[in-house]
Amino acid sequence: MDKNFETEAIRIQTERSQFLEHSTPLFLTSSFVFEDAEDMRMSFAEEKERNIYSRFSNPNTLELVDKMVALEGAEAGYAFATGMAAIYSTFAALLNAGDHILSCNAVFGSTHALFTKYFPKWNIQTTYFKIDQVKDIEQLIQPNTKILYAESPTNPGVDILDLTLLSKIAKKHCLILIIDNCFATPYLQKPIQFGADLVIHSATKLIDGQGRVLGGITVGKSDLIHEIYLFSRNTGPAMSPFNAWILSKSLETLAVRVDRHCQNALAVAKYLEPHKKIERVKYPFLKSHPQYKIAKKQMHLGGNIIAFEIKGGLEAGKQFLNNLNLCSISANLGDTRTIVTHPASSTHSKLSEKERLETGINDGIVRVSVGLEHIKDIIKDIAQALK
Ligand SMILES: *Cc1c(COP(=O)(O)O)cnc(C)c1O
Repeated sequence: MDKNFETEAIRIQTERSQFLEHSTPLFLTSSFVFEDAEDMRMSFAEEKERNIYSRFSNPNTLELVDKMVALEGAEAGYAFATGMAAIYSTFAALLNAGDHILSCNAVFGSTHALFTKYFPKWNIQTTYFKIDQVKDIEQLIQPNTKILYAESPTNPGVDILDLTLLSKIAKKHCLILIIDNCFATPYLQKPIQFGADLVIHSATKLIDGQGRVLGGITVGKSDLIHEIYLFSRNTGPAMSPFNAWILSKSLETLAVRVDRHCQNALAVAKYLEPHKKIERVKYPFLKSHPQYKIAKKQMHLGGNIIAFEIKGGLEAGKQFLNNLNLCSISANLGDTRTIVTHPASSTHSKLSEKERLETGINDGIVRVSVGLEHIKDIIKDIAQALK
């Protein structure tokens, strides 16, 4: 990357129309015309790079991909309708029946559903490892293991996985290392620098940052992305040009937004930590976080997600949610508005109790996605709800 993060996020512009507008126009077209028959043949034969049809590519999705490729330090990428479309398509493009996935057990609820409910239909099995088993995962690698998968920070436990260690293991055993970088964004953490082969995002979260569009993106090694592109071009999970236009615009302010998100989150975490009604607080940049050192090594700031446990378990947690006046009760995260969720009864309710406890989600855990309201107002609302 020649330019600094903020500059790339603002200055990469792929297309202008004949009107020479300063910001990128929206290209709402399903298809593109060819100069002549030879132009069409060459385009379909991939002898020439150009837009053919918006399911394959579009100037707006290409601009978003170009930005994310630059920001993550990747070679190539593809944009999807949602984060789950990115995750599903990435796996489906790269795996064959009989292949095996090794994954951290603390994954997004729908990713867990892919691994346990849908992939087994095609004889693709997943073995989970726990956060505290990371050093011993080599024992879990099988001859047919193809992908090593993890989120860091994890959802909703905000645990941190050592990306350098995962990448060493992946390289040694020729596995494809895929990291869901949704909670960190490329502004806080660039998994490719630590050796990841592919990085996946739900752009719905901090990348949009205002809770208004859905999107997903996979970036990484160009040979792998080419497989993912061919799969997606034929199966149709593409991002809409409108969403790409919004998300490309959102990236222009990612650094300033995430800076403030992290500043607010650290203040909320520091407020909660000594509070007498709080059992424990987990935030990557609090010294008490079990993987604080790794977080400091691989992340630039601590992110905007805090997990905490209120004394009194499930009932106390529900009471806290019901007492909030300002903060929203919602399942989204990474919005300008502070959002509070109770994972055990919502996003992770499909997991069995045993699976939930193994991923550190006991009934009292509350997850806060700290927003961009004034910090005094956020803390005031949390303080009165705890009372
Ligand atoms: C939200 C989320 C997803 C799924 O993204 P969608 O855009 O909702 O499909 C995947 N991974 C993580 C970590 C998420 O938070």
